[in-house]
Amino acid sequence: MINAPRGIKDRIPPEEDQFLALVSIAEKHLGQAGFKKVGLPIFESASLFTRSIGVETDIVEKEMYLFEDKGGERFALRPEGTASLLRLAIQHHLIEPARITRLSYQGPMFRHERPQAGRLRQFHQVGAEILGTITPQDNIDLLVVIDSISRELKLPGTTLFINNMGCSRCRPVFRKALVEYLETHQSGLCTTCKKRTETNPLRVLDCKVEQCQPVIERAPSIIDFLCESSRLHHEAVCSGLRSLSIPFTVNPRLVRGLDYYTETTFEFVSDALGSQSTWAAGGQYDGLIGQLEGPDVPGAGFAIGVERLALLAEKAGTLMPAHSHTQDISILPLGELAVPIVQSLIREIRNEGISATGIFGTTKIKQGFKQAERDGSRFLLILGEDEMARREIVVKDLLTGEQTPFPLSPLAGLIGYIRSVRSQEKISQLS
Ligand code: ATP
Ligand code: MG
Repeated sequence: MINAPRGIKDRIPPEEDQFLALVSIAEKHLGQAGFKKVGLPIFESASLFTRSIGVETDIVEKEMYLFEDKGGERFALRPEGTASLLRLAIQHHLIEPARITRLSYQGPMFRHERPQAGRLRQFHQVGAEILGTITPQDNIDLLVVIDSISRELKLPGTTLFINNMGCSRCRPVFRKALVEYLETHQSGLCTTCKKRTETNPLRVLDCKVEQCQPVIERAPSIIDFLCESSRLHHEAVCSGLRSLSIPFTVNPRLVRGLDYYTETTFEFVSDALGSQSTWAAGGQYDGLIGQLEGPDVPGAGFAIGVERLALLAEKAGTLMPAHSHTQDISILPLGELAVPIVQSLIREIRNEGISATGIFGTTKIKQGFKQAERDGSRFLLILGEDEMARREIVVKDLLTGEQTPFPLSPLAGLIGYIRSVRSQEKISQLS
C-alpha cells in the first residue's frame, strides 16, 4: 500500500468542505479590504527564494524542496508566497511607486520540516501584500483584516505580538551591539547560534533551543536602538491599534524567520494551539522589491496558516458544521426501461441546484437503500414499472420515512418539495 508522504495531511469529506469554507471566509475579508486575487505557480526558480528569504535562514538552509528539471534548471516548490507574489507583480508591472497595490493569494506551500502537530511539509496559506509607498496605517490595516477574520471565527486565546525591526539606518547599529553581546556569551549558545553570531545574528533571537533562552532574554532590545523615523513608525502602529481597541503586546525578540523584514513585524499566536502556536504572521519589507529588481518601494504583508486556523476554528466550534445529509437525492431505476428516464431526471434535478446521483448497479431495493445511505442522501426516489405506468415517482424521505408521490412531468412539485425540506433542515441545524 502506498501512503501519502510524511508531513502531508489528506483532507477527506467533510474536511475539505470545511477547509475551503475557511479559505473563503479569509478571502471574503481580504476582498472587503480591497485585495485583488492572483494565482501563483507552485514552483519557481530556486534563486527567487534564496535571494529573497535569505541564505542563512531555516527555510533556505534546510527546508526547501529543490529539484532540477530535464533541462537542468533548478527549481523549488514554493516555501512561502511573498517572494512569488513580488516576482509576479514585478514581472507584470503591477507595482507603481506613486500608488498602492493590494494583492492576495492562497494555496499550498512546501517545507521539508520535521512533521509534528501543526507542522506539515505541505501546508496551506492565505496571504496578502500591500505594495507601494506604504505607511504605518497600511501595517495597521493588515492587522485589522487578520483581527476581523479572528473575530468572525471567534478564535480562542489569541494574542497579537508586534515588533519593529528598524530600517537600513538603525538596524546596523543594533546588529553591531547584538554581535558584541553574543560574542561575549558564546558558551551559552547552541552550535547554530554560535555560527549565526557571525552570519545572521538577528536570527539568534528567534532560536527555540532551550539552552539559548537565558542569553536571548538578556540580549539588547531592538526597540532601544530605533532611529527617530522607525520609532515614530512603531509608535504610530501602536497608537493606531490602541485607538481601534485591538489588543497587542510588543515583543522586541520577534524577528521572524525570513531575512527581508524591516520596520513592523507581527505574529498572531494562540495559546489553544500547543507548541506550534503562530497562526498568522507578517510584516514590512523595505528593500525586497528593489532587491528583486522591481521599483525601489516597500511593501508589507502577512500569511495565515490555514491548517492552524482550522484547528482553532474547530476548538471555537465555528468550523462549517458537517451536514448530516451531504447530498439531496439518490434515484434507483428498477429495470432497463427506467434507466434512461432516471438519467434525464438526474440532469433536470441537478439543473435546479439539487444534488442527485443514480443507483445503476443494482435493482434490489435493499441495496438501493444502502447506497442512498452511503451517498449521504436525504431522499431515495424509486422508479419501477408501476410508477412509469402512472407517470409519477415516489419520494421517500429517509429521515422521517414519509413517502410522497409526485408527477414525473412537470417536475416543479417534486423540486419545490425537496427545496422546502432542505431549507427546514438547514434552519434546524443552525438553531
Ligand atoms: P513557525 O514559527 O511556525 O516555523 P514561520 O515563521 O516559519 O512559522 P511563516 O513563514 O511566517 O512561518 O508562515 C506563516 C504561517 O504559516 C505560520 O504562522 C503558520 O501558521 C503557517 N506555517 C508555516 N510553516 C508551517 C508548517 N510547516 N506547517 C503548517 N503551517 C505552517
Ligand atoms: Mg518555520
